Amino acid sequence: MDMKPSSKHSSLPLQAYLDHAATTPMRPEAIAAMSEQFGSVGNASSLHGAGRRARRVVEESRELIASHVGAAPSEIVFTAGGTESDNLAVKGLFWARSASDPQQKKILTSSIEHHALLDPLVWLAQEAGAVVVQAGVDAQARVDLEQVTEFIALDPQAFAVISIMLANNEVGTVQPLAELVELANKYGIPIHTDAVQAVGQLDVDFAELGVDAMSISAHKLGGPAGVGALVLGRNIEPTPLLHGGGQERNVRSGTLDVPAIAGFAAAVDAAAMDRVERNAHVASLRDNLVKRILDVVPDAIVNGDQQFSEQYRLPNNAHFSFPGCEGDALLMLLDAKGVECSTGSACSAGIAQPSHVLLAMGATSSTARSSLRFSLGWTSTQADVDAVISAIGPAVERARMASATLVDQA
Ligand code: PLP
Repeated sequence: MDMKPSSKHSSLPLQAYLDHAATTPMRPEAIAAMSEQFGSVGNASSLHGAGRRARRVVEESRELIASHVGAAPSEIVFTAGGTESDNLAVKGLFWARSASDPQQKKILTSSIEHHALLDPLVWLAQEAGAVVVQAGVDAQARVDLEQVTEFIALDPQAFAVISIMLANNEVGTVQPLAELVELANKYGIPIHTDAVQAVGQLDVDFAELGVDAMSISAHKLGGPAGVGALVLGRNIEPTPLLHGGGQERNVRSGTLDVPAIAGFAAAVDAAAMDRVERNAHVASLRDNLVKRILDVVPDAIVNGDQQFSEQYRLPNNAHFSFPGCEGDALLMLLDAKGVECSTGSACSAGIAQPSHVLLAMGATSSTARSSLRFSLGWTSTQADVDAVISAIGPAVERARMASATLVDQA
């Protein structure tokens, strides 16, 4: 199955792009839906014909997205992406709950969340008196349920919100959310999940999951960057981050980006339509990549869950540590050979610090710094895998020599 976008729709270079978890190429369906809207005028809040037309596009998009994520249309709150959705969920729920009961100061999360979630929590702790409790993970990045249970049972009335991601962006581990939801329900604590990496890849159903809030981002599943949603249960009312026109259920203000929303919906639809077939293809490429990297670099370490089924690990994720290498050096050496991948998460790439996810999994700082993430997607082909395999051996050798030289000079 070759799903490369046609040249009509894309100007992708002939690179082996293995960074779909950072952002995946836009689906032709999304590009077409957006292009159709770019030529039209209309503020979806205006009452005249142009406004009503724009509103229809927004509401049809909302319905389509809702139908694919197991939510009611009224539960889709459009945002500017995963970062805003995460901020709205944790800040908004913390503010609302602690305002109604000053006892509710605690937030429970995991040690492997994305910075879009962790940094708002740091802010809440520093500026708003929140007490953030982080549960650890095991060596495969699975959240320690026993610890979560203990933390909550100790002081259940003190928790304003629980937020634990559905699938990890670095190592792809899928979390045991059902157990966490059960626990949250037992004590009546609202629970949010960051499903930014999961929606589009896993069969995510908001109602079935039973969470109160769930973050989604369009550009991770073939839509444009800068738009996403917070799926928000009907009775859940976070305090808004943005005040203004109250366009989205009064919890989010700002004129809606109609083309982006149409593109988002088209991408969610396209991703849902070929999900099973695509995942089988992507997972088989990923398995082939993992096996052949281990053939070429036998001491490479595969990070994340060792069970490669969708229940435990995202089908597109392969994550390695290459002992004796600096991940950044490896990344640049591979890039020079046309292979594009990532060290840690793209959002923190460029800053030479070990991934907090790998450290939480028990890796040493040097192992964590020697890591690379290869993430595949709907345009991935066998040629992409072959490109990694022909480049990785010499790149690891050179990166090891460079590291050894630095140690000698130290
Ligand atoms: N959450 C996770 C798990 C992510 O992987 C990302 C992006 O990398 C985000 C949140 C942020 O999403 P966005 O880029 O739409 O702001």
